[in-house]
Amino acid sequence: MGDAKGLIVVVEDERAIADLQRLYLSEAGFGVHVEHDGAAGFAAIQRLRPVAIVLDVGLPSMDGIEVCRRLRESGDWTPVIFVTARDDEVDRILGLELGADDYLTKPFSPRELVVRIRTILRRFSGATGNAKQLAVGTVTLDPSERRVEASGRTIMLTSTEFDLLAKLMSSPGQVFTREQLLSTVWGQADYGLGRTVDVHIAQLRSKLGDDSPILTSRGVGYSVRR
Ligand code: CA
Repeated sequence: MGDAKGLIVVVEDERAIADLQRLYLSEAGFGVHVEHDGAAGFAAIQRLRPVAIVLDVGLPSMDGIEVCRRLRESGDWTPVIFVTARDDEVDRILGLELGADDYLTKPFSPRELVVRIRTILRRFSGATGNAKQLAVGTVTLDPSERRVEASGRTIMLTSTEFDLLAKLMSSPGQVFTREQLLSTVWGQADYGLGRTVDVHIAQLRSKLGDDSPILTSRGVGYSVRR
């Protein structure tokens, strides 16, 4: 079981699902550590510093939302993929501004999980080389360090939020449709979830506060001001 691609922590109380996740992720070349309840999962994440986390929402002792909230509070922005049992939980997760990078609704194909993890890690690792720093108004974005500052303060963004902002800031004044933003950030526009973009944009605006350069083109999409 090589872990050349990094360690993934899976927190899942349904053993059969956890076993499948472990199998597919390790076959894809990841190291996998599984915990079956929230508190143990949280402790393992802090101890092991994984490259990504697969987090079931309904867990004994501490639910997945609480695990993620505590991680974010502690300044840990490791990519999180939520696994939910119900569609209505998706709205709750996205609405809570926890910095969820993606989510899957049960039942899902373990292959799909592997695809999502790869996509997130590819984005998170940047792969932007020596791309030059972008600046709009008081906001600066450094693609190689994946760092955003607004009026001199560092803004903690999820990888999804970062990539959305980088896309918008790459071409100030240009309006990007939700579909364009989805396909840029998620690789393919097969999610059919325009609201996902809207929620991440709302999170970005809230984090950037008065510094936010993001403009809404009603019914079309988003841009940053020139
Ligand atoms: Ca569960």
